[in-house]
Amino acid sequence: MAASLDTATTQPMPAAAPAAGGDARLPSLVGLTRSGLSEALAGIGVPQRDLRMRVGQLWQWIYFRGVRDFDAMTNVGKGLRAELARHFTLARPEIVSEQVSVDGTRKWLLRMPPTGPHDRGAEVEAVYIPEADRGTLCVSSQVGCTLTCTFCHTGTQRLVRNLTAAEIVAQLVVARDRLGDWPGAARPTDGLVPDAERAVSNIVFMGMGEPLYNFEGVRDAVEVISDGEGLSLSRRRITLSTSGVVPMIGRAGDEIGTMLAISLHATRDDLRDELVPLNKKYPIRDLLEACRGYPGLSNARRITFEYVMLKGVNDSLAEARDLVRLLKGIPAKINLIPFNPWPGTRYECSDWEQIEDFSEVVFRAGYASPVRTPRGRDILAACGQLKSETEKLRARARLMLESGIGAEGLFVAGEAD
Ligand code: SF4
Repeated sequence: MAASLDTATTQPMPAAAPAAGGDARLPSLVGLTRSGLSEALAGIGVPQRDLRMRVGQLWQWIYFRGVRDFDAMTNVGKGLRAELARHFTLARPEIVSEQVSVDGTRKWLLRMPPTGPHDRGAEVEAVYIPEADRGTLCVSSQVGCTLTCTFCHTGTQRLVRNLTAAEIVAQLVVARDRLGDWPGAARPTDGLVPDAERAVSNIVFMGMGEPLYNFEGVRDAVEVISDGEGLSLSRRRITLSTSGVVPMIGRAGDEIGTMLAISLHATRDDLRDELVPLNKKYPIRDLLEACRGYPGLSNARRITFEYVMLKGVNDSLAEARDLVRLLKGIPAKINLIPFNPWPGTRYECSDWEQIEDFSEVVFRAGYASPVRTPRGRDILAACGQLKSETEKLRARARLMLESGIGAEGLFVAGEAD
């Protein structure tokens, strides 16, 4: 098992400047829905009768071409372009840092524009996972998380706020900027970018936060991302991963309509109560009932059940058999995830042989049971490891105060994490 990667060749990249796009004090149009754009245009006096046409034009430039300057919008009259630049920008979130793992995984720490005088700008992480024929972007839906899943590093960071739909969409826009994923743009030469038409071919809502606790934000973001005249990623290539917010699952199927993944991780309520505390509110039986009723569920649209492999905790073969029994009748895929260790965790990853034996039981029962290859472990970008750099820096500072050791020693300790 690839328990560790050659971290020596990991490249922490210098922080990139915020994307060009005008005066940072003005609101950005990047990430807005069609109705949001329409409102913005109406607000600067674009006549009602022109709104639809103007929104269509801007939509193409922003989401199909990825332009950063109103002057590039050649089919929009000069007067309106100047007016747009006076009131808005096409700015993206600031890239605080970019790290490229030795396996090609990229992690960005992004700072969103401040939402008010007391907001320094929320920071979230987005991770890009390239494979030979596709590239998956893992996006965050919240800053921090209220759910304290005990195997998850993000769960140790308190919830700051929900991201807006625009802030979710902007994560994709930044990724496409950095990956040269716009028509005519150049692909980066460092790290792996798949040899496919699109560098980002899939999106998973598996970054920071519980997407169903930010329902409207996620719904509107998916509307923008899946719009066929812009970013154009089919809903079947977007997966929403939930820890099991039962009352919202049916509504998610109806109103968001993406693929669904469930963070299951245990076959008994007493254990799941511990691993995913939300289980105390919505136990396994209710969760699976909601899955059986997920709108559009079929063999072609199966639900993915995620199961993190924790040594001696949930990885016995009896549990593999229980898992198969539990999911009977649900068109499902089972995704076995080798646990990605993070500083301070109490869990260990299951032994590789145990993961293989577990997978064999699941496979023999007729389920596809891919074992997810750990990606980006050297840059803490793997599943469940996301936590913003500022939090880590704060933790280091706290430790420094507590232990009274010098900053240099701490830095080394931090890096050794
Ligand atoms: S696994 Fe997801 S829902 Fe649970 S704490 Fe981590 S980010 Fe939150």
